[in-house]
Amino acid sequence: MSLARRKFDVLVIGAGGGGLRAALQLAQADAKVAVVSKVFPTRSHTVAAQGGINAALANVRPDNWHWHMFDTVKGSDYLGDQDAIEYMCRAASHLVYELEHAGVPFSRLDNGKIYQRPFGGQSQNFGGEQAARTCAAADRTGHAMLHSLYQQNIRARTHFFDEFFAIDLISNDEGTVLGALALEIETGEPLLIEAKTTLLATGGVGQLFRTNTNARINTGDGLAMALRAGIPLEDMEFFQFHPTGIAGRGMLITEGARGEGGFLINKDGERFMERYAPHAKDLASRDVVSRSIYTEVTEGRGCGPEQDYVLLKLDHLGEDVLNKRLPGITAMVKTFLGINPAEEPIPVYPTAHYTMGGIPTNRHGEVVVPVEHGEEEVPGLYAVGECACVSVHGANRLGGNSLLDIVVFGRSAGNRIIDVLKNTRYHLPLPEHSVDAAMARLQRWDQRGEGESVAAVKKELQGVMEKYCGVFRIENVLQEGLQKVLAIEARLQDVRLQDHSKTFNTARIEALELENLVDVAVATVASALARQESRGAHSRIDYPKRDDAHWLKHSLYYKEDNRVDYKPVRLRPITVETFPPKERVY
Ligand SMILES: Cc1cc2nc3c(=O)[nH]c(=O)nc-3n(C[C@H](O)[C@H](O)[C@H](O)COP(=O)(O)OP(=O)(O)OC[C@H]3O[C@@H](n4cnc5c(N)ncnc54)[C@H](O)[C@@H]3O)c2cc1C
Repeated sequence: MSLARRKFDVLVIGAGGGGLRAALQLAQADAKVAVVSKVFPTRSHTVAAQGGINAALANVRPDNWHWHMFDTVKGSDYLGDQDAIEYMCRAASHLVYELEHAGVPFSRLDNGKIYQRPFGGQSQNFGGEQAARTCAAADRTGHAMLHSLYQQNIRARTHFFDEFFAIDLISNDEGTVLGALALEIETGEPLLIEAKTTLLATGGVGQLFRTNTNARINTGDGLAMALRAGIPLEDMEFFQFHPTGIAGRGMLITEGARGEGGFLINKDGERFMERYAPHAKDLASRDVVSRSIYTEVTEGRGCGPEQDYVLLKLDHLGEDVLNKRLPGITAMVKTFLGINPAEEPIPVYPTAHYTMGGIPTNRHGEVVVPVEHGEEEVPGLYAVGECACVSVHGANRLGGNSLLDIVVFGRSAGNRIIDVLKNTRYHLPLPEHSVDAAMARLQRWDQRGEGESVAAVKKELQGVMEKYCGVFRIENVLQEGLQKVLAIEARLQDVRLQDHSKTFNTARIEALELENLVDVAVATVASALARQESRGAHSRIDYPKRDDAHWLKHSLYYKEDNRVDYKPVRLRPITVETFPPKERVY
């Protein structure tokens, strides 16, 4: 076979903050690292992160990593694994200082220390006064982080395959992952990348929903690759809807806007969050604020001609604060809405934002799957970032915790892989037939089909997900949604590639992405249907209460037989006491 091949110690799929932080750790330890990204690395979605990264630096108000841990456990609606949460919150300050030294230009306080703003779900003293824990580079924190990490990787001589699309993992018959098949987008040529270890860092799947804050590239490719490799996906029913997407369009207005003192009002000008979360108000957890907005609108208190959104008021903050602390969103709102937020409020509505579920891992980034008596690592495979479920976010992620998650676990996965490489001198032999399935998947799209277009089917899928599996869910609607998604899956066979004469490869990529989206959509709806309780972002109208007696467990969806199974939540932290589940009020 004349398939082009390259060999590396480590293959990192994804060049967002998670992939780049892991690659940096590895390259600095002299491992031979390849990073594959379907877009130029600094276009990864991490670049769009606005608000900031959490760490209990106590620069503005008193703080402590243990309080951060409590808030994260509570925010997760007690579904987060407390060992991983302790690990992340303890490591946070170190990782933020490291970013500072790597060149991230954080905003500064007058005393020269890193600026920190209040964000949702943050408290002092285990549920007391509002904390200020989110370290920010104005409202362009992700941009600053991603560019610094990329430059550090260039310096450390990480090898980049820019604009290469990973199609599928390659494994031997024993299930050891040996690398991946990729497609060079420009030429359309496949490339087999063999590696002693492979790390998935492909980000989330916001494109599942019609209105979302995500980049168009966030199509859950890594999640679907894992499913096709026989690995289950954990907690896929938990999808975060951010309360303040620009109404009807989805672009994000950072929670930092409320952190700086902005608040939400309904058509009567009422500051309605005071009714839903008397203590935390507009800085309650995201699931709580999203449900409150949804309720205001469905009960007829929405704004605008259709009464279908609420308003985010920032004008009282003044032009100075907006220009200094929120320059990016001020410019965005002026450009896209023709509104000056210093004068007029912004129309907002909950928008699909973040994938809490993902590939099951432990805190070393190892992919772990249940076996008869416990759990086992998938040899050769690691995952970090939004595509992984470690699980620090449980049923609801706190703002500012994802940028933290990607650097903390990017580094820990890097360290674990360095240890493994010490005892892995040679590449395992790669059986020729192991590439067949991935090649067949690619070649199937050489035939262009006669049916509906990729774009039309994608649009329909996104509409179905929004309508049947949105902020509020109920059995019969989810059932109907599942049937619709399965019907779309069946129709994929005849889908037509668009305009293949000019854009053959990009059309082929869009088709491959659509297949991935459909796989993840089925996992999401099936998991949502199975969980008969309300917890965090998963709100069932027919089961409105959290039910710890039956549902304090992670779901695991398997593609092979469309099955949802479960595994226990790791309630025991590493060194401190467990935070036992309590009623969650803000
Ligand atoms: C608008 C917005 C604002 C946000 N603001 C914040 C914030 O203020 N604070 C916070 O903590 N979190 C925030 N988040 C969440 C956070 O930014 C993300 O969860 C995080 O950056 C994800 O990083 P990642 O490394 O896992 O993936 P990404 O940054 O999404 O990178 C994924 C990478 O995978 C590559 N890839 C994917 N599929 C393939 C494939 N098939 N082949 C090759 N390469 C592939 C892509 O090219 C890309 O390089 C925000 C998210 C959004 C959308």
